[in-house]
Amino acid sequence: MKIPKPISKLIESFEKLPGIGPKSAQRLTFYLMRVPEYEIESFAENLTELKKRIVFCENCRIIDESTPCSICSDDMRNKSQIIVVSSPLDVFAFEKVGYKGQYQVLHGNIDPLNNLGPEELKIHLLIKRLKDLILDFPQVEVILATSTSLEGESTAMYISKMIKENVDGFEKIKISRIARGIPIGGDIEYADDITLSRALEGRSSF
Ligand SMILES: [Zn+2]
Repeated sequence: MKIPKPISKLIESFEKLPGIGPKSAQRLTFYLMRVPEYEIESFAENLTELKKRIVFCENCRIIDESTPCSICSDDMRNKSQIIVVSSPLDVFAFEKVGYKGQYQVLHGNIDPLNNLGPEELKIHLLIKRLKDLILDFPQVEVILATSTSLEGESTAMYISKMIKENVDGFEKIKISRIARGIPIGGDIEYADDITLSRALEGRSSF
């Protein structure tokens, strides 16, 4: 007997999700068959709404229900400070700790092996924003908070270089990289060599 088509098609859909292998895809599909119909309907509706109602902010590329997004349109926030992050989830992390500036979301890092270049990350949007901002503010700050992976590091370096090469008056832009080092509660003896040497490099006055 062949697996009925609605089942095999759903399994295929699940398999396309990151971190889901064929076994998990089967388990999820068979689990859903036992779920009441109204729950399935609301699940399906949430999936459809995801694409219909969500847009990328034309300015910072945050995912929101409108563009410009709620952060770009909030006049109470610091307009002259931009944190550059690799993933939209990073925005929620910075919001949670009370950050009150702006963002630029890259949706990835420069990664030529996966066809991700400056074009795909829309780095030109950041350059354009900075050109406009230095006309309005005496000092602008860019905090590079891309991931600490090799790709994240080279993306941060690339952005810093692009700002210096393309923004007239870049002297007014303070570019910083978030500090890296030992996590709170972490033991120094267990830190890897790279983390430890960066913690030393990024030491601050006490
Ligand atoms: Zn925005």
